[in-house]
Amino acid sequence: MVATKKIDGRAHADRLTAEVAAATAALKAESGIVPGLCAVLVGSDPASHVYVRNKSKAAVAAGIATFQENLPETASEAELLALIAKLNADDWIDGILVQLPLPKHIDPQHVIDAIDPAKDVDGFHAQNVGHLWGGGQALIPCTPYGCLLMLRDTMGSLAGAEAVVIGRSNIVGKPMAALLLNEHCTVTLAHSRSRDLPGIVRRAAIVVAAVGRPEFVRGEWLKPGAVIIDVGINRITPPGGKPKLVGDVAYAEAQGIAGAITPVPGGVGPMTIACLLRNTLIAACRRRGRPDPL
Ligand code: NAP
Repeated sequence: MVATKKIDGRAHADRLTAEVAAATAALKAESGIVPGLCAVLVGSDPASHVYVRNKSKAAVAAGIATFQENLPETASEAELLALIAKLNADDWIDGILVQLPLPKHIDPQHVIDAIDPAKDVDGFHAQNVGHLWGGGQALIPCTPYGCLLMLRDTMGSLAGAEAVVIGRSNIVGKPMAALLLNEHCTVTLAHSRSRDLPGIVRRAAIVVAAVGRPEFVRGEWLKPGAVIIDVGINRITPPGGKPKLVGDVAYAEAQGIAGAITPVPGGVGPMTIACLLRNTLIAACRRRGRPDPL
């Protein structure tokens, strides 16, 4: 029986946010530069509005200037692309965050392609994706980068470890696999067509679950001592109970087997926001030819 450590994402996020705030204050004192983050919202999806509000609040607390552009649900793709072009040309803006999902009539790839890669603080532009895989200087997607920071803090060097990433989305699974490969892990990227997923997971010292299915990864799949990062956010209502959030990993079953695990909520989510602040600060520095402050 292993004593399972809870990886406290909120504490990690508070530390990273404090580092970003200190570096942002130093940048302003030295050069007058204030990093600027602009969120773009299309339509009135309540969850998207909550996400943007939380990100803006965190940015303000870190000393980052925040801006918001709202377009109606009926806005055309051309209108959104024109707005992106305006923000690309605006020197006050260092980071452009287009909150997804977009209305169905707008192709998110066209929008991502239109963002200046130097201001692409989500790290989704093809140029940043290419640099991440190719070893160049990328802006790295916030969720997987937050996962990596927690893994490094928990395990120290990741070199040589067997890592399994479950889920191959462009925003989590694929960049996570690239980051782990860059750390010299032996990486398996699993997905819905993978055969014998429990057998694959059982080999892994590191498991990153980004599936979007409640408690999908069972405790009995885990290798004793493995470190588990649970990216999933699933709202469920237990029979006779109140709605609650659970991850992609059966958290209670992992106790006593996993070496360490992130909870849901309070794990990956807070780190995602802190990494967005970090990316905005880094973008502000790189755009002006300054070295990365963090
Ligand atoms: P996504 O685009 O829906 O991708 C889900 C992935 O899971 C796909 O690659 C899919 O495989 C795979 N999958 C589905 N069923 C499977 C199965 N039975 N066995 C193995 N793999 C399976 O999701 P996402 O955007 O990556 O998000 C994943 C989860 O993370 C969601 O719960 C989301 O809410 C959460 N999330 C959290 C944060 C955060 O900040 N905490 C950020 C982003 C996402 P195929 O490719 O074969 O279909």
